[in-house]
Amino acid sequence: MTDSVGSSVGRVTDAAAGPSSVSPIAAVPRSGWHVATVVAARKETPNAARLELDVDGWPGNAAGQHLDIRLTAPDGYTATRSYSIASSGPGARVTLAIDKLPDGEVSPFLVDEVREGDMLEVHGPLGAFFVWRPAAERLAVDGVRPVQLIAGGSGVVPLFAIASAHAAADDPTRFRLLYSVRTPDDIYFADELRALASASAPFQVDYVYTRRTPEGWPTAPGRIMRDTLEAAVIPAAEHPLVYVCGSTGFVERIADWMVEFGHDPRSIRTERYGGS
Ligand SMILES: Cc1cc2nc3c(=O)[nH]c(=O)nc-3n(C[C@H](O)[C@H](O)[C@H](O)COP(=O)(O)OP(=O)(O)OC[C@H]3O[C@@H](n4cnc5c(N)ncnc54)[C@H](O)[C@@H]3O)c2cc1C
Repeated sequence: MTDSVGSSVGRVTDAAAGPSSVSPIAAVPRSGWHVATVVAARKETPNAARLELDVDGWPGNAAGQHLDIRLTAPDGYTATRSYSIASSGPGARVTLAIDKLPDGEVSPFLVDEVREGDMLEVHGPLGAFFVWRPAAERLAVDGVRPVQLIAGGSGVVPLFAIASAHAAADDPTRFRLLYSVRTPDDIYFADELRALASASAPFQVDYVYTRRTPEGWPTAPGRIMRDTLEAAVIPAAEHPLVYVCGSTGFVERIADWMVEFGHDPRSIRTERYGGS
């Protein structure tokens, strides 16, 4: 995408009216796509935004699913990217949290340019495997198994949806989240995660800081290592369901180690965001 169109991509625009206006005509979605109105756009962290969308015709979604966003420039150029949904349940309101990749085509626009009232095209909900359902809805075989969530950076988004659904259902399943994040300022859903940890559904969060720790943190910053991982996850002997989400390199490294620790590969669900 060139700079000349980059400034207008992302609003469902009428080319004749210019990039900053939203055209209800252009907003008619193509087949299978919905029009989403941005009802709130704010900073989630210094490098990420939280977008709340009202999606016309949205059927609701399960915790862990994602959607596709398609941006269209006035010249018809389109770019489509997937984003996990941080919310779940029935209703047309959808929450996203998006990390800005400095050299990215789409994410800088979504983080820096999208404003309340803008319209976006979205497709979904997508994904059938990387989901979690409360006890009443899930397969008997998954019934009593604890759940280990492992997030790298923005990979926490679907795991936050899963943890929130667990709390909302007051589900008795034991949950643990291991969250690898650059610095304390980069934690997504920081207040909400604190609240989840004190809700009645059993939920524990463990952080690994890769670049800067909070003051007095017992360990130096650094990437999750094999022994850190082993010490911070529910052991294989307890047969947890495991959800891992983050950049491709992060997910593959973690999943390989989990298998080495004795976790059944069929119990490990992964979502790869791309990158290395
Ligand atoms: C199912 C799914 C769900 C996703 N959910 C989210 C989400 O909730 N929040 C979110 O911020 N992103 C999410 N992503 C990633 C998102 O789809 C885009 O890949 C990301 O926003 C980068 O797009 P871009 O156009 O800015 O970068 P691009 O122009 O596509 O890429 C720019 C450069 O960054 C590299 N790159 C691409 N993706 C990543 C990555 N994830 N990490 C590191 N480097 C990368 C590319 O190789 C390239 O060098 C998800 C991806 C998938 C497949």
